[in-house]
Amino acid sequence: MTAAPDPGPEDGPAGGRAFAIGLRNRFRGITVREGMLVRGPAGWGEFSPFAEYGPRESSRWWAACHEAAHRGWPAPVRDRVPVNVTVPAVDPERAAAIVRAGGCATAKVKVAERGQDPGEDLARVEAVREAIGPSGRVRVDANGAWDVDTAVRMVRELDRFGLEYAEQPCATLDELARVRRRVDVPVAADESIRRAEDPLRVRAAEAADIVVLKVQPLGGVRASLRVAEACGLPVVVSSAVETSVGLAAGVALAAALPELPHACGLATMQMLTADVTADPLLPEDGYLPVRGVSVDEDRLRAVETDPSAWRARAAAAREAAG
Ligand SMILES: [Mg+2]
Repeated sequence: MTAAPDPGPEDGPAGGRAFAIGLRNRFRGITVREGMLVRGPAGWGEFSPFAEYGPRESSRWWAACHEAAHRGWPAPVRDRVPVNVTVPAVDPERAAAIVRAGGCATAKVKVAERGQDPGEDLARVEAVREAIGPSGRVRVDANGAWDVDTAVRMVRELDRFGLEYAEQPCATLDELARVRRRVDVPVAADESIRRAEDPLRVRAAEAADIVVLKVQPLGGVRASLRVAEACGLPVVVSSAVETSVGLAAGVALAAALPELPHACGLATMQMLTADVTADPLLPEDGYLPVRGVSVDEDRLRAVETDPSAWRARAAAAREAAG
């Protein structure tokens, strides 16, 4: 186990190290998470926009990577960040086991899975509530799959087990706003937010009570803090399923927010089959520590791929940023 060498003066896209790491379960239709790591004077940054994003969209992801490598992050106001355990659309027994193994005080439960019926959602959420206990928090995430009437009915029914909030119950801002007016459970916007102006649109449409923010799509920790301040709604920081290098930026955002009333969706390292550090950002007792991540050369080599396509993507993204 050795520390990665200093890349020397070349720490822009041309010095990037590409990686490909398997996912334990399919996510957004992919089974391998790919990206590039860049080292600069402030540390390591991750550039891992999804394959379908062009240079313009990827330019914000590059800005986040560049911030991590060259500037570092604002001072934290807390030294650990509460995180949620995520429960996929599994059967109740498996759901309860995941919650017990997770050791978190908050669980996020996937609902509205294609091909499943409402009874399965109810049974899963009931099992999660039982496993996490009365003082735990249970949120559900429909990933925009319900129509308004179904969302209203399901959120009310699921709230029998006490919901912290319902994440993206429907796809559009208009639908979210209509659901929000008809249920007592707070609504969170996740997929509705992909760029910096979106949280303000969410707020203007009165579409959500909470916004889910991710560092890379918003262009870095400082950019995300500005978005959070302008938006004025409580923030849940979430990951884009990154290596520990990318997760550290999410932790830095969560650590710098003046208020952090909800657990964050940053306990996603377990979704990957490998990491690039000897000391992965994994939750302990429901919290992630606020700290930097150093890349381990042997572990990076084990997942390293030809960087040429990624370096070209990063160069194009930097170009698009102007
Ligand atoms: Mg979500």
